[in-house]
Amino acid sequence: MRRATAVVNGSHARKRSPAAVGPERLDPRLILAAIVESSDDAIIGKTLQNVITSWNAGAERLYGYSAEQMVGRSISVLVPLDRPDEINEILAKVKTGARVEHFETKRVHKDGNVIDVSLTISPVRGADGTVVGASLVARDISDRKRADAISSELAAIVDSSDDAIIGKTLDGVITSWNRGAQHLYGYAAEEMVGQTIALLVPPARPHELEEILGSLADNKGAKHLEADRVRKDGMLIYVAVTISPIHNSNGTVVGSSSVARDITEQVSVRAALKSSGLRRVEDVIRAKDEVIALVSHELRSPLASIVGFTELLQSRVLTDTQRKSYLGVMLKEGRRLTALINSVLELQRLENGHQKLDLVPVDIKALLKRAVDSAGLDDRRALGLAVPNGLPLVMADADAILQVMANFISNARRYSPDGGSIRIGARVVGNLIQVYVRDHGLGVPVADLPKLFERFYRVDSPDRQSIRGTGLGLSINQRIVQAHGGAVEAQSEGLGKGSVFQFTLPAVPRQANPSEVLVIEGDSSFARLLEAELRAGGLTAVRAGDAETAEHLLIDGMRPRAVVLDLALPEMQGDEFLARLGARIGNRFPTIVLTVKDLEPGEIALLRRAGAAAALPKEAGATQAAVALIVEALGPRLSNI
Ligand code: ADP
Repeated sequence: MRRATAVVNGSHARKRSPAAVGPERLDPRLILAAIVESSDDAIIGKTLQNVITSWNAGAERLYGYSAEQMVGRSISVLVPLDRPDEINEILAKVKTGARVEHFETKRVHKDGNVIDVSLTISPVRGADGTVVGASLVARDISDRKRADAISSELAAIVDSSDDAIIGKTLDGVITSWNRGAQHLYGYAAEEMVGQTIALLVPPARPHELEEILGSLADNKGAKHLEADRVRKDGMLIYVAVTISPIHNSNGTVVGSSSVARDITEQVSVRAALKSSGLRRVEDVIRAKDEVIALVSHELRSPLASIVGFTELLQSRVLTDTQRKSYLGVMLKEGRRLTALINSVLELQRLENGHQKLDLVPVDIKALLKRAVDSAGLDDRRALGLAVPNGLPLVMADADAILQVMANFISNARRYSPDGGSIRIGARVVGNLIQVYVRDHGLGVPVADLPKLFERFYRVDSPDRQSIRGTGLGLSINQRIVQAHGGAVEAQSEGLGKGSVFQFTLPAVPRQANPSEVLVIEGDSSFARLLEAELRAGGLTAVRAGDAETAEHLLIDGMRPRAVVLDLALPEMQGDEFLARLGARIGNRFPTIVLTVKDLEPGEIALLRRAGAAAALPKEAGATQAAVALIVEALGPRLSNI
C-alpha cells in the first residue's frame, strides 16, 4: 500500500520543474518510484502469499484494473483458470532467491480477454536479507505473439509453396531456401544457405546476376524476368522469376527475395511454335481455321467436278469426244486435288519441323541450270539463266531448292498470261548467295507484297481471277528457304509491272574441304549411306550431288585421298570427267571406286585407262564393298592406331 502511495507521490514529483529543484535534492526513492510509475511495463509488488502490494500505471494499462482495485488482492485473479499451478511454482522458485526471467504465459484482462505476457519475477528481500516478497514486471507480448503467429504461418506458406522462394543478401548470398527451391533446383536448404546464388546461373552469363542485384540496390522495385538456370544435376531449366527487394525498417534495401517457377515446357512449346513460324496459340488456331476454310472451298470444288462428271459418265450415253473431254477434266481436277493435298501436307511437315533438310555443298549454277531444264520449254515465256562463273558453293538441300525454283518459275509463267521472258540469276550478297527470278507478268500490288508469303494468301485482282492456285506455293518456299538459314523477298512496282522473287542461301567459305573421301553421287540416300559407312570405317567424307559441285570442291582446294563416283550422274561422261578430275589433282587419289549400272567390258577398260581403280555394280552390298576397297587402299590411319 505504501508503495502505491509512493508511486502516486512520485508522479506528482515528476510534474515539478527540474530547473526549480536540482537533482541532488531529490529523494532517490522518489526517483525510483517515478521510474516505476512511468514505465511502459506493468510493475507489480506482491507478498509471498501472492497478495498485491503495489500496482503501477503500466499494470493498470495492461490488465485494466486500477491500483485501488488490485492492491490487497491476490494476484491469482489475473491467472487463467486453466493454469492454476503456475503462480505457486513461480513463487516457490522466487522464495529460494532465484529470478524467473521472460516467462511467457497468458493472463486475464479485466474485460475477460486473455493476453500474452512475458513476466520477470524477482525476489524482494527484507532488511535481514530474507525474501519477503516479489516484484513482477509484465510486458504485453500479444502483438509480438500475433506477429510470430503470422510469420510462422507465412513461413509455412513459403515452405509448402510449389514455387522456389529464395531469400538473399545484396551480394547474392542465400539466406533462405524453401522446399519448392529444393524441388526446382535439386539442392537442399543445407547445401544452399550461405552459398552464392551465382551457382544457379549458367556460366555463360556471369554478369546477369550483378545487373539484377545492382538494379535492386537502386530500389527500382520488383523485376520480372525469364532466364535459364542450372540445376544441381547440370540440367538447364527455364524459369520465370520475380525478384523483389527486401527493405529493413528504415526502408533501406538489405536483400532480395525471388520467386521462381519452372517454365521449361512453355519455353520449348514456344520455341517449337516459333520454329514452325507460328508464334502464338492464336496463330495455331487461325492456321487451323484456314485449313478448314480451304478444305471446305478448295477441296470441295474439284471433288464436286469429279463426282459430277463421274455421274454423267455413268448415267448418259455419250459420244467418244464427250467422254474423252469429261475424263480429261476429271484427270485435271484429280491432279489438282493431289497437288493441293500434297502441298498442305508438305507445309504441315515443314511447320512441324518434320521435314529434315540434307544440307551439303552445292554448286548453285549447276543447280539453277537443272531447275531451268526441268521447268521445260515455253516459247512465250522463255527462261534465261544469268549466273556468273566462280560463285562460292552454297549449303543446300538440292532437291528442296529445286522445288523452290520450280515454284517460283511456275508462278512467273502462270502470272505472265501475255507471255514475257523470265530471267533467273544469282549473285553474292555479303556471305550469302542471292538467287532471283524476274518476270514481266502481272506484278503484285504494292499493298499485297507483305502478305504474299502467308499461307493461302492469294492476290485478289481481276487480272488473275482465272488463274487457279492454292496460295500455298510461296509459303512453302519461304519455309524451305528459312530452314536453310536464308530469307525470301518479293518485289514489284505494282500491277502490270512484273515481279522479282528472290531468296538467299548461306555461302560456303572458299577453303579446302578437309574430308578424306569425295563421294560424287546423285542419289542422295545412296550417298548418305556411303558416307555413314565410310565414317564407320574411320574416314571422313563430303558428298557432292553433281559433277560441278565435285569440281568446285577441288577448285576450292580439296584434295581427297579417295573418290567414289557415280557414273550415272546427269549429263556427265564418266571417263571424261574422271580424266578432268585426275588432271585437277594430278591423279593423286589412290582409289577410285565407281558405282555404275551394267558396264560393258570395253567401257570398264576405258574407265581404267582414265584412272578408275575398280568398278562396282550399284546393287545391294555395293556401299560396303566400296568402303572396304577404300579402307584397304588407304591403309590404317594414324589417328586410328
Ligand atoms: P498460288 O499461285 O497457288 O495462288 P502462291 O503462294 O504461289 O500461290 O502465290 C500467292 C499469290 O502471289 C498468288 O495468288 C499470286 O497472286 C501472287 N504471285 C505469286 N507469284 C507471282 C508472280 N510471279 N507474279 C505475280 N503474282 C504472283
